Amino acid sequence: MPRTYHIWTIGCQMNEADSSRLASELERAGFRRAGRAEDADVVVLNTCVVRQKPEDKAINRLHTLKPWRRADADRTLALMGCLVGQREMAELRRAFPFVDVFMRPSEPAPLLDFLRDCRGGKDREMEDYRLPAGANGVTAYVPVTLGCSRACSYCVIPGRRGPDRSRPPEEVLDEVRALADEGVREIGMLGQIVDRYGMDLEGWTLARLLREAARTEGLRRLRFLTSHPAYLDDELIAAVRDEPKVCPCFELPFQAGSNRILKDMRRGYTREQYAEIVRRIRAAIPEAAVNTDIIVGYPTETEAEFVETLDLMRELELDMAHIAKYSPRPGTTAARMPDDVPPEEKERRRRAAEECARSILERRHAALIGEIVEVLAESYDRKHGRWRGRTPQGKLVFFAAENPGPGALVNVRLEWAGPYSMIGTPD
Ligand code: SAH
Repeated sequence: MPRTYHIWTIGCQMNEADSSRLASELERAGFRRAGRAEDADVVVLNTCVVRQKPEDKAINRLHTLKPWRRADADRTLALMGCLVGQREMAELRRAFPFVDVFMRPSEPAPLLDFLRDCRGGKDREMEDYRLPAGANGVTAYVPVTLGCSRACSYCVIPGRRGPDRSRPPEEVLDEVRALADEGVREIGMLGQIVDRYGMDLEGWTLARLLREAARTEGLRRLRFLTSHPAYLDDELIAAVRDEPKVCPCFELPFQAGSNRILKDMRRGYTREQYAEIVRRIRAAIPEAAVNTDIIVGYPTETEAEFVETLDLMRELELDMAHIAKYSPRPGTTAARMPDDVPPEEKERRRRAAEECARSILERRHAALIGEIVEVLAESYDRKHGRWRGRTPQGKLVFFAAENPGPGALVNVRLEWAGPYSMIGTPD
């Protein structure tokens, strides 16, 4: 009987990419995937600490696995991701003595070594090496910029993932080609600040990387996320405009609409500068989608400052907004400030921002009804009898069709459009 593994993942796309990579390494070492943690020989929890909620979830999951781990000495429990981060290993071992292996973000080696040395695992076999495709086999993520060297006042990531560095372009391009050969049709290039790609390399930028990757045969679409307003330049905008395979979709968080809050957050731009970048994107690429992240209830944020966030949302009419209540993170400078926005007020602001984003999207999407959009079919939803896919702008579309097959590009005429998804029929 082959031994089995189960990976539980929470958090950002980078974590998803790390989990896929680890899964393929484990398969290469002869392990097979188990649907449930309880049925597996090796369980990995890939964790996130960006806010208190995902951290609590990961720690709860870890504790529910304690009896499972204790019941059999041959089992392996591994903890991975930002909960491990740059923390002292000795401290982690004291806190979680039932965990066998701790792995920092994007570093699968400690588990693979442990399985080989302590669980009699085989050496990895090069021949059946599989690259990490996403669960649907059509889309995959490729990390290109690792870590983060900025110091946003609220953010714990730089300390956990280390300073930013670019992966060598040849390595990234090889991986893109191998994924496309495997059938992957859409690749998302990842980085905390993806548009800093190449700052530590001679002659490379994200724009150049996208242009080169776009030549990959078989590949239909390229995405890149997350961008930072201080680094997104005209060269990148031009690459998105000129390369048909590069999707006109920008993940460009503004976080707050008040210049005082932005300054305190150390974001490095004003609301006017952010609005100017959005105008530049739209002037070059009128059909582009611009998505944002927003934090509400940052310490000392007044009602009037929160309203500035709503005003900026209304002024710019962006696409998706990922809205989070501020969550103090240990070791960050913001966590040293008294958090004077009470939880119920944070919740009220979150709902107000959510409602604002929803009404903007409802209106913008309603204008798309009757239009034909290009959808990359990702997977079939048996329950509802329809395919699921995305437009180049990243909008979720459902459509009924005979059998386009995963990975097909389908022109869909939109018949219904809500704020978060759309429905249509192949044209
Ligand atoms: N590197 C990206 C995003 C990193 S984390 C950037 O520079 O914007 C993803 C999102 O989580 C952030 O954009 C932010 O909106 C949110 N986030 C990060 N730290 C947070 C905190 N302490 N409380 C609430 N939300 C937070």
